[in-house]
Amino acid sequence: MKQNLHTHTQYCDGKDTVEEMVLEAISRNFDSIGFSGHGTNYPYDPCSMDEQRTDLYMRDIYAANEQYQDRIRVYLGIEEDSIGQRFSHEDFEYIIGSVHFLIHNGEAAPIDYSQARFEQILTDWYDSDILKMAKAYYDAVKEMVSRPEVDIVGHIDLIAKYNENEKYFRFEDPAYLAMAKDAAETAIANNKIIEMNTGAIARGYRTKPYPHIALLKHIHECGGKICISSDCHNRANLDLGFEQCVELARLAGFTEIMMLGDEGFYPVPIEEAGC
Ligand SMILES: [Zn+2]
Ligand SMILES: [Zn+2]
Repeated sequence: MKQNLHTHTQYCDGKDTVEEMVLEAISRNFDSIGFSGHGTNYPYDPCSMDEQRTDLYMRDIYAANEQYQDRIRVYLGIEEDSIGQRFSHEDFEYIIGSVHFLIHNGEAAPIDYSQARFEQILTDWYDSDILKMAKAYYDAVKEMVSRPEVDIVGHIDLIAKYNENEKYFRFEDPAYLAMAKDAAETAIANNKIIEMNTGAIARGYRTKPYPHIALLKHIHECGGKICISSDCHNRANLDLGFEQCVELARLAGFTEIMMLGDEGFYPVPIEEAGC
């Protein structure tokens, strides 16, 4: 079984059309693909979809599902931003909840836009104290994962996007890890699926998927559920790093990966999942 529920198109900041992505998924033997365009988040994210674009996006995806129904199942999802519009299952088949922005004194800034911007936020807002910044981030994650509409937690440790060589903090620093674990535990208590996400690998910032293995192990120990995605913004990367995800998931102790079916999410044995 092969599925990717975290993908972007030209309707937001992706490179390809819905149809190009669907055809790519078919050619790579995916059983299904889900689209998760950036939900409305104005004025902060100019790449997010406004109401009109969301409408076109939805129609395009319905049409692709219909047109290619004999070859692939196409799901309609959305990536809800923690400071943007909230969505409902009346309109979408699944919802990914993600924190990309932090808020400070009434201002919002993206932590994943660029390393320079990340450092600016760290310096200007958090006195260069990465633990202070991580605390603000994970507090936002905890709020996000408490929302009833959210199915999947997007890139749960996005705060580590530029931390490949532990430039900003040690992943296993107990003070850092305690905050990350707390957020993961809140997600698990709220029955959310936590995604393994290879998006930063495609962009060359990391060599490993989110979440970090130390956090992934904890997620498993707490009975958490995971899925695998590539946060795809370019169809060439539709299944980038999936094998590595399966390997890491096994290493962390997982025997199942969650997938979306017509009746909702269900577990697939790891040996049948992903690649
Ligand atoms: Zn995201
Ligand atoms: Zn995304």
